[in-house]
Amino acid sequence: MTRDSKTDCIFCKIASGEIPARIVARTDSAVAFHDLNPQAPHHVLVIPTRHIAGAAFVGPEATDVWAPLMSLATEVAKQLELDEKGYRLVLNQGPDGGQSVGHLHVHILGGRRLSWPPG
Ligand code: 5GP
Ligand code: ZN
Repeated sequence: MTRDSKTDCIFCKIASGEIPARIVARTDSAVAFHDLNPQAPHHVLVIPTRHIAGAAFVGPEATDVWAPLMSLATEVAKQLELDEKGYRLVLNQGPDGGQSVGHLHVHILGGRRLSWPPG
């Protein structure tokens, strides 16, 4: 896992518009954009606009972080018309969790039947 600091964090740069991404939706505190390397027909990432290294780094302001993030994730899934067939929200934390970008993000995966359990 890359423990990107705020200054060299690729997702901070996507949130600020410094590097391009296919933005799907944006609120005051969260941004949703298409994953560069999609693992399903629909693969969108939802991030807080401010830098938080991962789920394990959310502090006492937890509700202020999770509520807008998960609200945007479920809203985007609805926009993508995934509600009926279903979708998966994934959050990888740390090396064993498979996290590769050190800025908190939730994956929305949909458009195909996903296997369980994950490998
Ligand atoms: P993780 O493995 O940390 O849970 O997920 C990181 C995700 O970010 C991966 O699915 C990867 O494809 C995606 N990703 C990495 N760099 C970029 C980028 O520059 N732009 C976009 N849109 N997605 C990226
Ligand atoms: Zn960041």
